[in-house]
Amino acid sequence: MSIHAYGAHAGDQPLEPMNITRRTPGAHDVQIDIAYCGVCHSDIHQVRAEWAGTLFPCVPGHEIVGRVAAVGAHVSDYQVGDLVGVGCIVDSCKHCADCAEGLENYCDEMIGTYNFPTPDAPGHTLGGYSEQIVVHERYVLRIRHPEAQLAAVAPLLCAGITTYSPLRHWQVGPGHKVGVVGIGGLGHMGIKLAHAMGAHVVAFTTSESKREAAKALGADEVVVSRNAEEMAAHANSFEFILNTVAAPHDLDAFLTLLKRDGNLTLVGAPSSPHPSPEVFNLIMKRRSLSGSMIGGIPETQEMLDFCAEHGIVADIEMIRADQVNDAYERMLKGDVKYRFVMDIATLAD
Ligand code: NAP
Ligand code: ZN
Repeated sequence: MSIHAYGAHAGDQPLEPMNITRRTPGAHDVQIDIAYCGVCHSDIHQVRAEWAGTLFPCVPGHEIVGRVAAVGAHVSDYQVGDLVGVGCIVDSCKHCADCAEGLENYCDEMIGTYNFPTPDAPGHTLGGYSEQIVVHERYVLRIRHPEAQLAAVAPLLCAGITTYSPLRHWQVGPGHKVGVVGIGGLGHMGIKLAHAMGAHVVAFTTSESKREAAKALGADEVVVSRNAEEMAAHANSFEFILNTVAAPHDLDAFLTLLKRDGNLTLVGAPSSPHPSPEVFNLIMKRRSLSGSMIGGIPETQEMLDFCAEHGIVADIEMIRADQVNDAYERMLKGDVKYRFVMDIATLAD
C-alpha cells in the first residue's frame, strides 16, 4: 500500500513530499490512519543528520495520533475507529528485564518510530509525517481526551512522556521546588505537568519574551537565565531541575541552584556535548546529575490518562505539511508557542 509522506533524501536537503509503503497488518498489528503528528526537536536533529547514523530517506515524526483503521486477528484491545496514539517506540525485544518492567524505552533492542532497522521497506522505520502507520498492539496508546483536543494531544506522545517520566522518577510533588529549563515543546509540558503534580514551579528561559507566557502555563516564578542576579537569588534552593535545552550550555549555572541531595536531569539531547560540569558543584552538596529517555509504554498510558483527567494538552500551532521546513527554522529561533503539529490531511493536497 503506497501512501503520502513528507521526508528528506539527505541531511542537507529540505523535506519534500514522497510516497512510502506500510506492511500489511499482521495478527498483532494495529493499522492507524494518522490525523496529526507533532514536530519534535529530535526530528530536526535526526533528519539533518546532527546525531550519528541517520538513514535516508528519513520520514520523521513520533508524536502520532489518529484512528484505528484495521486490526490483526489477535488484537483484542483495539477496534476500528478507536482514537489512539503512537509515540517514539514501535517495537522492542519484549522479554528482557527492561521490557518485563514496562521500560521498553531502555531495551537494548528498542525500535524507534523512525530511523531504526526493520524488515519493512525501505529497511528502516519511517515516522508519522505520513498518512498511515502499522504498529504492534503493545506500542499503541489509548487516547481518552475529547476528540476535539486530538491535535493538541499529539505532543504528549513525546514531549509529554519525556517530561512526565523523570518528574515521577524523582517523585516531584507538593512541597518541592522544581525548575524547568527551556520553554519549548518539552519544557512547556514539563511546566504544566510539574504544576499539576503540586510542585512550586520555576521556569528558566533565555527568552525575555516568554516571561509572562510561562506563568500562564503554570509557572509560579520565571527566571531569565542570562540574568546572573536573578539566577543567584535561587542558589541552593531546588529539589529537582529538569533541563530540556536542545543546545550545549553551562550546566554549573543550574547545578548550583540545587539543594543538598538535589538532582538535575538532562533530557535535551544536543548534537555536541555540554562543557563538563565542575565536580565540586556535585560533591559539596551530594548533588546528582542524570539523564532520562522518553518513557515506557505503561507509563506513557499513565501520562495520557493523567493528562485527560487534569485537562492537560499541549499549546500548539497547526501547520500544513509543506510548512514543515519553515517550522524547523522557527523552532531553531525559539519562535513557537509551544509545539508545531502537522495536519496530516494536507499531505494529500
Ligand atoms: P524546542 O521546542 O526547540 O525547545 C528547546 C528550548 O530550549 C527552546 O525553546 C529554548 O527555550 C531553549 N534553548 C535555549 N537555548 C537554546 C539554543 N541555543 N538552541 C535551542 N534551544 C535553546 O525543542 P524540544 O522539542 O522541546 O526538544 C528539546 C531537546 O530535547 C532536543 O534536544 C530534543 O532532541 C530532546 N529530546 C529528548 C528526548 C529524550 O527522550 N531525552 C525526547 C524528546 C526530545 P527558551 O527560549 O525558553 O530558552
Ligand atoms: Zn520527540
